[in-house]
Amino acid sequence: MRAIFDKIHQCMRCCLNCGSLFPQRNRWLCDRCGQLTDCDESKSYAVRRLEKQKLEALCLWDWIPWKNDALSNYLAALKGQSQMSEWNFLAQRLIQKRMQKSEVLSRPSVIVPAPSLRAPDEDHALSLALAVGAQLGIAVSPMLVKVSGVHQRGLRKYQRQRILIAKHENFSQVDLSRHKVIFIDDVLTTGVTASSSLRALAPMKSHEIWCLAQRALL
Ligand SMILES: [Zn+2]
Repeated sequence: MRAIFDKIHQCMRCCLNCGSLFPQRNRWLCDRCGQLTDCDESKSYAVRRLEKQKLEALCLWDWIPWKNDALSNYLAALKGQSQMSEWNFLAQRLIQKRMQKSEVLSRPSVIVPAPSLRAPDEDHALSLALAVGAQLGIAVSPMLVKVSGVHQRGLRKYQRQRILIAKHENFSQVDLSRHKVIFIDDVLTTGVTASSSLRALAPMKSHEIWCLAQRALL
């Protein structure tokens, strides 16, 4: 009996969204759910405006959580580096989308994942960054941290958000002024994380923001 299950496991996979078994390929979604997620494929760059600053982000999807269950389930089910083949697939799609914009990535470049409080093997931004870095041959430098324990009382809301992200002390001397920074996160919501991160990394030669999805704002 065990042998039969092993055999099934070798040639079939369980879809992350609907749970159905499908022939194993390099994906974690069956064809039907793959099509459901792709109907919200982002047609253009996501734009966020914050304090006079305009952020543009490369995104695979325009994600409206209450409208696309397949995509919501899929994004929630992606669990860090244990699913590296899926991250490689997503990285490849992001790179393809970036290259459609024609202009070549300038070098030297460095990839900086969004800071996270999760363990590395549960960290979406890091997993995606590692997959992109491996495919482009660009170093991944997780140099940002979320700062906690800072005395924040008496500050206005936007000031609090501003000081939540900093360069890790091991990287405090890193000079990015001659590098293009590719900042990578899983989901772009308000843009505050990206904006605070870029501020913590400055000065940079230039930057780009890459995300899996831009989450619709209410
Ligand atoms: Zn499915």
